[in-house]
Amino acid sequence: MVPEQSLNHFEQHQHEMSTITGKTNLVGLLGQPVNHSLSPIMHNAAYEEMGLDWCYVAIPCDKTNLEVITTALRLVNCKGLNVTIPHKQEVVKACNRLTSIANDIQAVNTLIPEENDQWIGANTDVEGFLSPLKDQNLIGKNVVVLGCGGSARAVVMGLNILNVKKITIIGRNENSINIFVKNMKELSKSKKISIEGINNTKLNVTPYIEEADLIINTTPIGMNSKKTAQENIPLGPEVWNSLSNETILYDLIYTPRPTNWLKLGQEKNCFTIDGLDMLVEQGALSIKLWSGFDKIPTQVMKSSAQKHLMV
Ligand code: NAP
Repeated sequence: MVPEQSLNHFEQHQHEMSTITGKTNLVGLLGQPVNHSLSPIMHNAAYEEMGLDWCYVAIPCDKTNLEVITTALRLVNCKGLNVTIPHKQEVVKACNRLTSIANDIQAVNTLIPEENDQWIGANTDVEGFLSPLKDQNLIGKNVVVLGCGGSARAVVMGLNILNVKKITIIGRNENSINIFVKNMKELSKSKKISIEGINNTKLNVTPYIEEADLIINTTPIGMNSKKTAQENIPLGPEVWNSLSNETILYDLIYTPRPTNWLKLGQEKNCFTIDGLDMLVEQGALSIKLWSGFDKIPTQVMKSSAQKHLMV
């Protein structure tokens, strides 16, 4: 699977390869919807920089067609796939085997081709999530996670790796919180991390916010431009009145930049992180897995995504 050519060899061919020809290899993204995805922009920018004769396309795919589409794309020698909302868990069934992290969280965002027309399922969201936190020491810290969907799984896995002390999951749906906390406790059983679930429709969450060292928004609240500024703040604006300026706010959302929640944090002098670095890093790691190259032009990926967001 790993090409033997060096990066320099590909660089020599960079000019010719910006055109799609009969030899161009297909890679892409499966999800629903995919038309707003930044992945095609940043992936194709990286391939051009690397001189890879690959083309990345966003492929809309319904749940009922997921298996047939993944099988068909493998048969036409697709070099790799990313998988996004809402298929990250469902696509596990389409994989012949999983990497250890994907198996732990039972969520896949990257399909890597292997022999006999099969796919290996990997998850690069965990490492992507950790990337902007690499300079923070979070050992023994209190972390609050807002939401308990697909990306929250990768976040909790990442927090396990960072050896935090306590993770409080805040959600609106009792049943989803209970299932999530049960699964995450199973995942963290070898670590001494306390994991608790809180239903914000029943309990006052302010004390949890006040004592948090890091708060991560994994809900889509903040993405919808049709909502008012107040509606676009997770848990509503009042909860954040007593937020400490020592607390780090990390929003997985990458558009708008910054979200209203991160703006509120910046006004309180909190250190804030948006979702763009995570997006770029998880994409770069997918390219590494597909190409075998170690050096991926992440700056080119980030600036192409930033430029596109400004249009
Ligand atoms: P998901 O699986 O649908 O999970 C969303 C979570 O948010 C669920 O727990 C859901 O709760 C909760 N939620 C949704 N709407 C809510 C609302 N109005 N009020 C309260 N809670 C609400 O989605 P996901 O895949 O985790 O993605 C979540 C966000 O992360 C998206 O904005 C996505 O773009 C972003 N993301 C970014 C990256 C990156 O690389 N930066 C990677 C992955 C995801 P219920 O179960 O009650 O509906």
